[in-house]
Amino acid sequence: MTAAQSARLLIVGPQGSGKGTQGIRIADAFGIPAISTGDMFRAAISNGTELGQKVTEIIHAGNLVPDELTSAVVRERLEQDDAAAGFLLDGYPRNLGQVAALDEILGARGEELDAVIELVVPRDESIERLSLRAAEQGRTDDTEQVIANRLAIYERETAPILDVYRERGIVDEIDGVGSLDEITDRVIGALERRGLIRTAAV
Ligand code: AMP
Repeated sequence: MTAAQSARLLIVGPQGSGKGTQGIRIADAFGIPAISTGDMFRAAISNGTELGQKVTEIIHAGNLVPDELTSAVVRERLEQDDAAAGFLLDGYPRNLGQVAALDEILGARGEELDAVIELVVPRDESIERLSLRAAEQGRTDDTEQVIANRLAIYERETAPILDVYRERGIVDEIDGVGSLDEITDRVIGALERRGLIRTAAV
């Protein structure tokens, strides 16, 4: 397998930017697993595991799970076979400390991120989409107050990680407003311009 056939990707965007949905589509197109820390935590909560018990209140309030715990979960997940040739991370790293932890995890494997997809969505649109999702899915962290908290945390803690990746020249800013297919096409186009090769049609 040539290097270009693997893809190590990160998708970043505020809550309600559609990064979960787009992340899965992009991961499918490149034949890599979509790894969402939010999904992993929610699965742990619904399965009643020890991890789930530790994080349930934090997630309910829309706060961040401690870095050490989150990075340990990601490290373990990346060790699974399906992530050997690439992966798409969704929701991790979410602050500068986690960027350093991911650098360490990947550095130990002789790897680095190939591209960071920034989904750009105006704040009003994010809030509207989140309210809609709250009505549809009933996520406990989609109440108005918790949404506001999560967006504030995004702006304060997560947006700065993009500056680090921008300095490395690996950020693709993608307009996140449009139809699902349009946005997927924009992302795939940007990744292909970086020489990353998709393995499936979407
Ligand atoms: P998400 O589905 O990505 O919005 O994540 C849902 C919730 O899981 C967040 O509001 C946090 O409480 C927690 N979470 C997910 N990813 C992380 C992370 N990288 N660091 C800390 N907490 C996280």
